[in-house]
Amino acid sequence: MRHALTRRGFFKGAAAAGFAATAVTSAEAAPAAAPRRFRSVVDLTHTMSPEFPTFFGVPGIELQKQFDFKKDGFNLNWWRVIEHAGTHLDAPIHFSENGATVEKIAAETLVVPLAVVDVRGRAAQNADYLLSRQDLLDWEKKNRKLPDNCCVAMLSGWGQYVGDAAKFTGSAGGVFHFPGFSPEAAEWLMKERKVTGIASDTLSLDNGPSKDFRVHTMWLPSGRWGLENVANLDKVPAAGATLVVGIAKVKDATGGPARLIALV
Ligand SMILES: [Zn+2]
Repeated sequence: MRHALTRRGFFKGAAAAGFAATAVTSAEAAPAAAPRRFRSVVDLTHTMSPEFPTFFGVPGIELQKQFDFKKDGFNLNWWRVIEHAGTHLDAPIHFSENGATVEKIAAETLVVPLAVVDVRGRAAQNADYLLSRQDLLDWEKKNRKLPDNCCVAMLSGWGQYVGDAAKFTGSAGGVFHFPGFSPEAAEWLMKERKVTGIASDTLSLDNGPSKDFRVHTMWLPSGRWGLENVANLDKVPAAGATLVVGIAKVKDATGGPARLIALV
């Protein structure tokens, strides 16, 4: 069964390659209201549990059983959750005084073209690797210009380590070691391209040893969002997928666990 997504202006200029025969073949020729189709759904979300490694070293979520089926006739837990744990969204307010809180993020900015930048080779050589402007230019050379309103995701390969907190956090001697975006790359995306969000398959948008969280302090106050601990980026194409960010609409939230879905 095929489903169609039709959103006026949404995929304007997005690459049509790899899609259904009805799709146009030239990016320039794509009409604003071209129907979009997808063949499969890829879950970009890690399972959240108290064991999932967190930035703070404490459980990101705790479940407390309030009602039990055998005793009460239904099951119901209470959650105590850290907004920034597991696969989650960073809202602009996370690193700004007056930025948007989660409920103020427009739904149409949560369904976006996904660009996956594969830096696994370099990250394997350097756990503190910073995704560079050159990595973005290389992506564009291989694919196309980054589509407007897209999310740029870093695939460092760290997603495979979530079951091993020491490896995932790279924590040794109190310093984290994992890849992130370089401030230069983030700045370039803000100034030279029209990008809605950035995403990382590590604990943070900034790399592990970062002390000033420069990418966070530039990116989020600009009104853009971020995603961290993203899963399965190796299972989606570098270009052409659509990302759906399912974030609970909680008033005044600075972020929160999200169900990330890629339509491929
Ligand atoms: Zn966060």
